[in-house]
Amino acid sequence: MANKHEKIYVNLNLNVRGLPPSATLQINEKSNSLIEQGKTIYKLGLGQSPFPVPESVVEALRKNAHQKCYLPVKGLPELKEAVASYNMKFQNIKCTGDDILIGPGSKELLFLLQLVYYGDLVIPTPSWVSYSPQARIIGRNVQWVPTHSYNNWRMTPEKLEMICRTDPDRPRILIINYPANPTGCTYTTEKLKELAEVARKYKVVLISDEIYGQIHHKGQHVSIARFYPEGTIISSGLSKWCGAGGWRLGTFTFPSSLRWMLDAMAIVASETYTATSAPIQYAAIRAFEGGSDIENYLHHVRRILRALGKIFYEKTKELKLTLPKPEGAFYLFPDFSEYRLKFREYGVLTSGEMCKLILDKTGIAMLPGVDFGRPPEELTARIAYVDFDGTKALEASMQIYKHNDLDDSFAELYTPNLVKAFKKLKKWLNDL
Ligand code: PMP
Repeated sequence: MANKHEKIYVNLNLNVRGLPPSATLQINEKSNSLIEQGKTIYKLGLGQSPFPVPESVVEALRKNAHQKCYLPVKGLPELKEAVASYNMKFQNIKCTGDDILIGPGSKELLFLLQLVYYGDLVIPTPSWVSYSPQARIIGRNVQWVPTHSYNNWRMTPEKLEMICRTDPDRPRILIINYPANPTGCTYTTEKLKELAEVARKYKVVLISDEIYGQIHHKGQHVSIARFYPEGTIISSGLSKWCGAGGWRLGTFTFPSSLRWMLDAMAIVASETYTATSAPIQYAAIRAFEGGSDIENYLHHVRRILRALGKIFYEKTKELKLTLPKPEGAFYLFPDFSEYRLKFREYGVLTSGEMCKLILDKTGIAMLPGVDFGRPPEELTARIAYVDFDGTKALEASMQIYKHNDLDDSFAELYTPNLVKAFKKLKKWLNDL
């Protein structure tokens, strides 16, 4: 019999060894543990929608709680049809249910895509925290493309051309995300057309992460798939616009020329998660079919986010931080360089150290720019302006004349934690 102290010869895969848990989940857990210790914490770290799932979609879930069978690996046919019609309705993209893949969150689908495809992954910085760790787990080469604040942190067609020109036949996937996490910025239609042209020239597979598309603050999201239909995969899901992150439902829309990728991902899915939760898929049909209640919900969600984006963007600028004005989603991405010398007195040289200091001194949780692929010494951070009761804010907005913009008094009443957090940050920075 083996001695229980004997060494067991198994070890972690090199790609996973030393990989920390996802940055967004870490900040959430850290904030919760500080709250448990009795500290006042402003949770501006985790990017979760504060709004409830629309009532008709919750009702559809209730009615489908009895659905107990495994569904087809690619997704429930009626749901795939609903997603295809939704693409047609909102973006004029012609596709059928056969072009859709449903998964347990778009994060999982993005991972499967990286797993089945051979080639380089090109991602602009800053961009969402998980693209690059996923590539690392799979052992894929990542090419980071720096962007600039004067360009609103957007990928430019010129940069893409430069990258592709160095090795024109190399297979590549480019991920762009707009409205963007962590900046809230998006692309103009002109820029999307120019990017599409370069992507077509070099046959780049384009992943268009449009998970925040429906929460463009003015409801004016445009998909690049309109201009590069044959090479674009649209990534989306219920997490952000439908307030249903915990439901775990993501969608990929493929052009028919990339059906082989969809099929390959479905094979891996069949050997891993089998199928996405049945009751959730039945309920999601209601969300994608839409209707006047969902349009009304989205009108108010956008109006609230538009007002908060503007109010807190202005408050951030008053602090002498530089940042672009958000156009969608619920993020601000300020640069604290103005305070670099003061921070140095605390021994702070990096964005990670800066966020720790701010959390410690003010109770405000944010994510450092380094988590989004920015250089560690650049003093950027992401603020998610979601620490408020979305149900109450939504109910209140529904009582206010539909066509008026919401103002500071709305923020004071319904997002008091955000107002307090910005006041606290202002005082602390002023006293430095
Ligand atoms: N892309 C971006 C840019 C995100 O911010 C998120 C969630 N934070 C995801 C993808 C993943 O979303 P989900 O897995 O919930 O569909």
